[in-house]
Amino acid sequence: MTRPIKKIVILGGGTAGWMTAAALSSVLASKDVSITLVESELIGTIGVGEATIPDIINFNRLLGIREDEFMKATQATFKLGIEFVDWGRKGDVYVHPFGSHGVDMNGIDFHHYWLHSRNGGNPQPIHRYSLCAVAALEERFALPDANPRSLRSHLRYAYHFDAGLYAAYLRKYAETRGVRRIEGQMRTVDQDADTGDILRLHLDDESVIEGDFFFDCTGFRALLIEKALGAGFVDWKHWLPCDTAQAVACKHAGGLLPFTRSTARKAGWQWRIPTQQRTGNGHIYSSDFMSDDEAQSILMRNLDGEMIGQPRRIQFRAGHRETFWSKNCVAIGLSAGFLEPLESTSIYLIQEGISRFISLYPDLPAPEIVRHEYNRHMQTEFEQVRDFIILHYCATERSDSPFWDYCRTMSLPDSLVHKIELFRQVGRVFRYEEELFSKASWVAVFLGQGILPRSYDPIVRNLPPGEVSQSLESMRVAMINEVGRMATHADFIQNYCAAR
Ligand code: FAD
Repeated sequence: MTRPIKKIVILGGGTAGWMTAAALSSVLASKDVSITLVESELIGTIGVGEATIPDIINFNRLLGIREDEFMKATQATFKLGIEFVDWGRKGDVYVHPFGSHGVDMNGIDFHHYWLHSRNGGNPQPIHRYSLCAVAALEERFALPDANPRSLRSHLRYAYHFDAGLYAAYLRKYAETRGVRRIEGQMRTVDQDADTGDILRLHLDDESVIEGDFFFDCTGFRALLIEKALGAGFVDWKHWLPCDTAQAVACKHAGGLLPFTRSTARKAGWQWRIPTQQRTGNGHIYSSDFMSDDEAQSILMRNLDGEMIGQPRRIQFRAGHRETFWSKNCVAIGLSAGFLEPLESTSIYLIQEGISRFISLYPDLPAPEIVRHEYNRHMQTEFEQVRDFIILHYCATERSDSPFWDYCRTMSLPDSLVHKIELFRQVGRVFRYEEELFSKASWVAVFLGQGILPRSYDPIVRNLPPGEVSQSLESMRVAMINEVGRMATHADFIQNYCAAR
């Protein structure tokens, strides 16, 4: 006999917990389902996670959140892409912009034209033909234009924000829609002796929370999915050796950049993420190749602004649960898995976990095929993101430290080897299975880190190089002019948030 879900319990109130609560409270508003979220202020949240990718706009829109209100509440700035410094070689700089490079030319991917003009002597890097990258580097911003003929229709953006404020904002949203929040620490879990399903949680104040479906949003603790249900962990340290971060916020020094900066260091990389009032800084590194003291001193030497507080050290493991959905429990957020924030994908993976669950929303007991489909999908998502992140490490010529020697020469997943070889040999790249990252994203990192195809599209190869270079130059100038008409990022935000 199947029965509808009646009582949903979310354990954990970080970004993952409150995103789950907000989305479910919105979707299940008219259904007879109670949603309870348990969190512990004493334990707190991870307190990092400020950079996002454009998909978050869809999440906020689905919830009906006004963008200007959200930006004000979360101290958000706009993000047009990521600038990578010193990754391919020391001294290299490239931008992975959101949105495309160039504009459509006869249905052939833009990078083939760029490769052709480069062969003809064009010295401009490909990101100079991306409106997002050009605007980002000029610290300017405009909203995309819905008119496809407008250059501004090529703009795509995301946000940098204070993730703690975002969780607080979503808490208000969810509580308004009936989510019950309980303050307390979970101590033990009761499970059904036959099925292994979770029945109830016992809290430190002796209270008992019954449920028929549970979300584990307890962060790295993974109290339900791992400690209770033993889902197992797929460890990717051999491909992603970074396992520690030190993070600190600084007061702003200078302008308000509409992009994240990622600078490669001796055994990892450093991030710089500007929100409205402060700049988040952090150094991610491999403890096999660098001590905490050395990592901290590198971070301190490379801060641009006065520190607020002291650096915090966070340890992590790259990888994911073997099963994301086990019994009557789904893990969302850090309890499901973690990939370092090089491409700002964790909040996206939270969003994807929630929306895939909603699209498979089951009666109970959930059919095995439904769980299987969820786990298959989330595993594919993690693996695709993993490959893209590994690309940044393996596509390097750096040989100035044992860490980079390891990354440059490590063996790679077959899926990534195929992608790299296809691009290296013929300049082709495809998006497989609704993959998150676009062709333009892959091309940005391939070319930005020095993987140049040996050949490219024969149709483009037969065009007169002078003509191609001429049309690229017109495009570049048009983009510069367009960006010149945009407001500065700082002014745009001030006006946008003040308009409320
Ligand atoms: P947490 O924030 O850890 O929340 C766990 C919750 O569980 C808390 O509310 C806690 O109180 C509760 N809890 C735990 N145990 C119990 C218990 N026994 N009883 C009751 N409650 C309990 N993501 C991005 O998208 N962009 C980024 O730029 C980015 N940067 C990052 C940098 C670093 C160094 C790290 C480590 C992560 C980063 N992330 C980033 C990931 C991002 O921080 C997380 O995905 C996001 O914050 C979600 O965390 P969470 O809610 O799963 O866990």
